[in-house]
Amino acid sequence: MTRLAVAAGAVNLAQGFPDFAAPAFLKEAAAEAIAADHNQYPITWGIPALREAIAYKYRQTYAIDLDPQREITVVCGATEGMVATLLATVNDGDEVIVFEPYYENYHPDLQLCGGVRKLVTLRPPDWSFDPEELRRAFSSRTKAIIINTPNNPTGRVFSPEELSLIAELCQEYDALCITDEIYEHIVYDGAKHIPVMTLPGMRERAVIVNSMSKTYSVTGWRVGWVAAAPDLTDSIRKVHDFLTVGAATPLQTAGVAALRQPASFYEHLGVEYGVRRDQLLDILTAAGFSCFRPAGAYYIMTDISGFGFPDDMQFVRHLINTVKLAAVPGSSFFSRPELGKNYVRFCFCKKPETLAAAGERLRAANL
Ligand code: PLP
Repeated sequence: MTRLAVAAGAVNLAQGFPDFAAPAFLKEAAAEAIAADHNQYPITWGIPALREAIAYKYRQTYAIDLDPQREITVVCGATEGMVATLLATVNDGDEVIVFEPYYENYHPDLQLCGGVRKLVTLRPPDWSFDPEELRRAFSSRTKAIIINTPNNPTGRVFSPEELSLIAELCQEYDALCITDEIYEHIVYDGAKHIPVMTLPGMRERAVIVNSMSKTYSVTGWRVGWVAAAPDLTDSIRKVHDFLTVGAATPLQTAGVAALRQPASFYEHLGVEYGVRRDQLLDILTAAGFSCFRPAGAYYIMTDISGFGFPDDMQFVRHLINTVKLAAVPGSSFFSRPELGKNYVRFCFCKKPETLAAAGERLRAANL
C-alpha cells in the first residue's frame, strides 16, 4: 500500500510509521555512537549496556526482574524477535493459537517454522473473544499462544480477566504465551497494559517480544528485544545468532538513552497519540466511516459496508487512486479475504497536518 500510495501521490495512512521527526536526543546519541566508533559487530545477543537498560526499564515499569545476562536478547526489531522465538520453540506440526484479525506477520512466521495456526476470533464491536472458543482451541498439541496487546489492527487492550484466562489455559496445557507488546505505552482513556509475564505462574512461560520502533518513533532502526526465562533465551539466542548476528551496534548504543527515559516520556506518548486518535476519528466519522474507537496502538479499524463497494480491495484502490488517500484493506488481517472485506484500517502516527490533509481529500471526494 505504501508503494501504491507513493506512485499515486496519496496521503499515506496505511503503513504504521511516523512521518514526524524522531526524538532529537536519540538522533544525537546515534551520531555520537558512530563518531565514537561503536561500529563493529556487537555481542550477538546485544551490547551489555542495552540489555542492562532494558532490565532497568522492566524493573521500573512493571517490577519484572530480568537477568540481562541470561534473559534478554537484543534482535533486529520485534519482527525478528517473533520469528526467532517461534523458530526456537515450535516444531513441525505444533499448534499455535492466534487471535484473528491478527498482525499480518504471524502467519508467514508460523509457516517458516512449520507451526499450525489455530484461530480464535476477536469479535466486533469491542473485539473481545469468547472464552469458550479460546478454551476449545487449546489441546495437548498446543505449543504456544501469540497475543498482541495493545492490538494491531483492532486497537483493543486485553482486559485483566482475558489475560488471566489466557494465563490459566497456558498453565493447564503447558503452553508458552508469546506476547507482542510493541504498543505497550500507546494507550488511551485510562487503559492499562499488563504484561502476561507479571501474572501468577507466567514468569517462566511468557516470552516478551518488543522493540524501539513504536515507543521511540524509530521504526527504521530495527532494534528490538526478547525477554524470556534462561532456557528459552538460550534457544532464542542460537536462532538469532544465525538469522542476523546482531542489531546495528551504534543504534544499540543509542538505545541505552531511550530505555533510560523517565516515566513522563511514556505518559506523554499516550497523551500525544490520544489527540491524533481523536483528530482522525472526527475526520473518518465525518466522511461516513463507522469507526471502532481504539483503546491502544495507533490504528483505527473502520467498517466500510455503508459505502456500497464490493470489497475492501476495491474500496482501497478507489481511495488511493481517486481520493489520493492510502489505507490497509481489512482482508490483510484475516485468514480468508471475505472475513475482512468490510474493514479498512487507517493509522494516525502522523503529523496533525498530514491527518488534516487526509480530511481535506475525503471532504473533496465526498465518498
Ligand atoms: N508487531 C506489531 C503488532 C506491529 O504492528 C509491528 C509493526 O507495525 C511490528 C510488530 C513490527 O515491529 P518492528 O518494527 O519492531 O519489527
